[in-house]
Amino acid sequence: MTDPTGQPVSARRMRTRELLLGALAEYDAVSRAELSRLTGLSRSAVGAGVAALLAEGLATEDAGPPAAAGRGRRAGLVSLRPATGVVVGIDFGHTHITAAVAGATGEILAERTAELDVDGRPNDALNSAADLVHQALEDAGQQLDRVLGIAAGIPGPLDVRTQVVRAPTILSDWVGLDPADELGRRLGLAVTVGNDADMGARGERAFGAGRGLDDFLYIKASHGIGAGIVLAGRTYRGSTGIAGEIGHTQLPGATSWCRCGSRGCLETVVSITEVRRQLSHVLKTGSGDGPTKLPALAELPSHPAAARVVTDAGRTIGRVLADLVNCLNPEAIVLGGELGTAGAPLVAGVRESIDRYAQPASAQAVSVRSGRLGRQAELFGALATAAGLRPGAGR
Ligand SMILES: [Zn+2]
Repeated sequence: MTDPTGQPVSARRMRTRELLLGALAEYDAVSRAELSRLTGLSRSAVGAGVAALLAEGLATEDAGPPAAAGRGRRAGLVSLRPATGVVVGIDFGHTHITAAVAGATGEILAERTAELDVDGRPNDALNSAADLVHQALEDAGQQLDRVLGIAAGIPGPLDVRTQVVRAPTILSDWVGLDPADELGRRLGLAVTVGNDADMGARGERAFGAGRGLDDFLYIKASHGIGAGIVLAGRTYRGSTGIAGEIGHTQLPGATSWCRCGSRGCLETVVSITEVRRQLSHVLKTGSGDGPTKLPALAELPSHPAAARVVTDAGRTIGRVLADLVNCLNPEAIVLGGELGTAGAPLVAGVRESIDRYAQPASAQAVSVRSGRLGRQAELFGALATAAGLRPGAGR
């Protein structure tokens, strides 16, 4: 692998570069000391890494505001330079991969999708993702050397200290893999990787229903259920990166085995697979004349019985979210993922449980809303990350 000047890039330098670009993509202008804290890199590694980014023209550093009288100037703040090429976003679901090429402000130029058992076949998934990126670049009439950044979301937690998939019960076939390194080697460029719900939160915050929000929960409700937690303007991942795995909250009375090895997890009751099974049952029964084609979830309000199924799923999710509302006092909950596309019936169920189970002051403070980006929130979050877009930037 080589840098833009044709020099070989060592694995350590590439990792430093990737960590710095990731931190700069997420946070507003930050000092070198903050970069060291955010990335866990030493001050000297940050210094060398920032110098390389400045030399490549990817970052800028201002002189910093004047400090108190007699103390000189404060340390300079490092920012990503506004980009002029294209960016690439990759969304790994549990059963699909989508890669998109976009302009630096997030407008999609080309998009490719493949259906695949992502959970069970990590190497095939990584190979397929690299192929999709090449195909999307070709569709967009772009070369790899025009790519300013690549980011990907994966449907499981990454250890924030090592970027390796560690949780042995969630995405278990990926354990021990470093997806950023794997994708970076396949594509020949540094790749930033994050949890899919965090990417969804970032997508809705940059382009959709999370604009202007600094304290909110993004819920990705699809085959699994995860939360992207944004607190005080920053993504919160916990000490090791597992924060937000709300799909594995135990529900009283639920007994089905979960893929994590526990029984009665939230996602055994309200995964999109389970909700679709319930919907097809209700619609068949309701029509009285055999199998009915399952409508798109967005059309459910016109099917009263089906809307009730989704509202009930919303109540179940809302019961778990009510505890989070008490703990974190968010200003909004943005419902995303495939189930989130059901819109009003789902919002109504979540709202009902929060009003019933959260403390009134916290419940009144939180707005419950559907995501605006639908199933593309994670992809847009990856594109925003790759572009280093600030929250609230326009599309
Ligand atoms: Zn579970």
